[in-house]
Amino acid sequence: MDKFLRRKDSSSSTDDEEPSTSVTKNLKKVVKRKYDEDYIKYGFSWCGDETAPRPQCIICGDQLSNESMVPSKLKRHLYSSHPSCANKDKQYFKRCLEQNKKQKKFMKSAVTVSEKALKASYHVAKLIARQKKPHTVGEILIKPACMEIVRLMLGPNEVKEVNKVSFSADTVKRRIHDMSSDLLGTLIKKLLSAEKFALQR
Ligand SMILES: [Zn+2]
Repeated sequence: MDKFLRRKDSSSSTDDEEPSTSVTKNLKKVVKRKYDEDYIKYGFSWCGDETAPRPQCIICGDQLSNESMVPSKLKRHLYSSHPSCANKDKQYFKRCLEQNKKQKKFMKSAVTVSEKALKASYHVAKLIARQKKPHTVGEILIKPACMEIVRLMLGPNEVKEVNKVSFSADTVKRRIHDMSSDLLGTLIKKLLSAEKFALQR
């Protein structure tokens, strides 16, 4: 640490001037505006980084830049984009915001379920491929078996979740194809990036 400080001092004569001015310039430019609870009356909440929040319109979801976090700009958006809401009060926007949050939560849970279903579908396709079973085994045996097990051990609601996983022969075929072309792609990439390689027979 001392070394750095001393070095800076000794070389401060000519070089130092320019960088120091540019630093102050930068500092001036980056003024981070904060969200004020009161901005909800312009129909705005905020999103992104807490230290430099961006105004987000509660009605259309548009995100403005941090620089626009000033009443005049928020008001301009409200009046020009949503004139019918221009005279609404804080309570109205608060209710809208709550509604949005609920919807978002719902959307998120829907996405995670379908993501899980997709993942499960790939895993089962891998098992089918490894055992060299026909692609139809998914829909004629694996899915009904899974659903029976889940129904007996967990319950009817959980069965509905399992039912979202696609096991059809076409799906299994497509998943196996996806995975093998991904494997092939990775292998080719590795071979191309390696300088030497040997073939084992
Ligand atoms: Zn808007």
